[in-house]
Parts: sequence; structure tokens; C-alpha cells
Amino acid sequence: MQPFEFHYAATEDEAVVLLGKYAGARCLAGGTTLVDLMKHHVERPAHVVDINALALDRVVELPDGGVRIGAMVRNSDLAHHPLIRDRYPMLSQALLAGASGQLRNMATTGGNLLQRTRCYYFRDLAAPCNKREPGTGCAALDGYNRIHAVLGTSDQCIATHPSDMAVALTALDATVRVRGARGERAIPIVDFYVLPRDRPDRETTLAAGELITGVDLPKLPFARRSLYIKVRDRASYAFALASAAVALDLDGATIREARIALGGVGTIPWRAHDAEASLRGQRAGSKCFTRAAVSALADAVPRKHNKFKVELARRTLLRALTRAGELA
Ligand code: SF4
Repeated sequence: MQPFEFHYAATEDEAVVLLGKYAGARCLAGGTTLVDLMKHHVERPAHVVDINALALDRVVELPDGGVRIGAMVRNSDLAHHPLIRDRYPMLSQALLAGASGQLRNMATTGGNLLQRTRCYYFRDLAAPCNKREPGTGCAALDGYNRIHAVLGTSDQCIATHPSDMAVALTALDATVRVRGARGERAIPIVDFYVLPRDRPDRETTLAAGELITGVDLPKLPFARRSLYIKVRDRASYAFALASAAVALDLDGATIREARIALGGVGTIPWRAHDAEASLRGQRAGSKCFTRAAVSALADAVPRKHNKFKVELARRTLLRALTRAGELA
């Protein structure tokens, strides 16, 4: 690990001042991603700001029926919170499908949003990687790319977004709340993550010096009947090869509204708008669910070792839709 200056923020105000003062400073919350990457010299910040004392550790109901999640709410606490379990079960299930119990006890909502890819080459300083060192190339394109993305890729980067939580938040139309020297702003999660295109090092629209303060979930009554399915190499402590967050709003057997997001296959948490549209007004059943699953992967661009992901993701989504139909 390279030497760095450690700063302690007791309040949001102090954190924003420190982040504004020291360009490139990184926030230390649970440390479950940052500390690993610093040990491996992948992340080399000159300044680290400890934000663990910030009063952002609550989950509260909003007057409009939505829910506000503080950025410092730990993943375990969020997964087991009654408001989340009851109103947004897909989010609770996604959190519990991630990492291990020990990591979930440390990892925070804000940190989970910013976790970095598990691409092997990103963590290997001997390999070229446009995300780690822009302009050096991408070792995964012609290398071993079994875990890599098939949606939203570019000729600069095909790294998969690693978060389960963010997939559920994407399906739920969450909003990321941030604060910087110029004040507060709210970023719809679909605008928070950025496709790699020719700048894979730029992963979000978070501006320099901005602090994530929380996440808002909108009121979404039919999300009470939602679920998250994750398929992976091991039963626990493994990243998704494919996952699906699904909610269906049914009027009898007719689908009024659908929410679908995919994980493990995209360079960002992947919202499947076309698949959702294909379900609206249809009679719930295997015919339209299959059509939606095909539509969700229609733009997939597989590589040498990850072709299996296309069919795996289709089947994962089909299973999630079928089970969601039974829940309603
Ligand atoms: Fe780096 Fe992205 Fe290529 Fe992986 S896929 S080596 S993260 S540029």
C-alpha cells in the first residue's frame, strides 16, 4: 500500500470540505472494496477521508410513501430492515445474495454503489487495462473473458458491473442523492452509471468532490411482489454470472406494468426497458415471458468465453418472471 494522508470527517459539511480540498480524495466507509484495491496498488489515492461518523445511517419513510436510505446504512441492516423486506423484497434479496455475512456487515449503501469491477485484469498491474490506466488497452477482449459483460460493452472495456444491490435499485427507479461544494442534487440511477464507451475509467456521473448522502426509493406498491434471482458459480460469496430483479403489476392475469433489471451481464446494472414494454397489456404466462427474455438479451455481444451468459441470462429472467407471476 502506498503512503496516503488520512482525514477524519465528523459531519457531512466537513466531508464535503475535505473532498473539495483534496482532489482525487477517496471516501472510506466500510472499506470492503477500497482497502483491497489500495493493498494491490490498483487504487492509489493521496488522501482518504473516513466518513464512518456521518449521521447517514438511517432508513426512513418519506411523506410521499417512498423510502430514504442513508449512504452509511450497512448492507446487512438494509437487507433486514422491515420497510425494505416488506415493500421492496427484491432489494433485500439482492443484498443478501451479495458477498458474505461479514462483508455485508461492513459494506455500506454508498460504497456498494461505487464498488469496482471484478475483471481479473483490472486487479492485475501486469495487464493492460483501460479502466485502471486509460489508453493502455484491454486484456479481456482477447483474453479469458468468461465473467465479462455481453451488454453495454465497447471496444475499450467489457467489464461486468459487480453489484447486486444496484440491479435492484435500477429496477426500482431509485434516485442517488449527492452533495458537493455547490449544494445537493438528485441523480436518477439510470443516469448515475455510465457506459464504458471510450472512457471506461469514468464509471458514474458523480462529480469530483461530491459525496453520496443516500438513495431514495419511490413509492411502488407492486414492488411488494418482487424478487431477485442470482445465478453464480458457488452458492455464496460469488459474483453473479446472471441475475434478474423483477416486479410485476397484475390486474388479474393481465400485466399492467413490469420492472426488469439484469445483473452479471452488463457493464452497468442493466434496465431492460424493451422487455418491460413487451409485457405491458399481455396475459401473464410463459409465452410473453419467453418473448420478454429474448428481447432483454437481443443486443448481447458475447465474446469467446462468455457466450453461455446469453442463454443463462434469458433463462434466469424467464424463471424470475414466472416466479413473480406466481407471487402476484
Ligand atoms: Fe480493464 Fe475493462 Fe478490459 Fe477489464 S474489461 S481489462 S476492466 S478495460
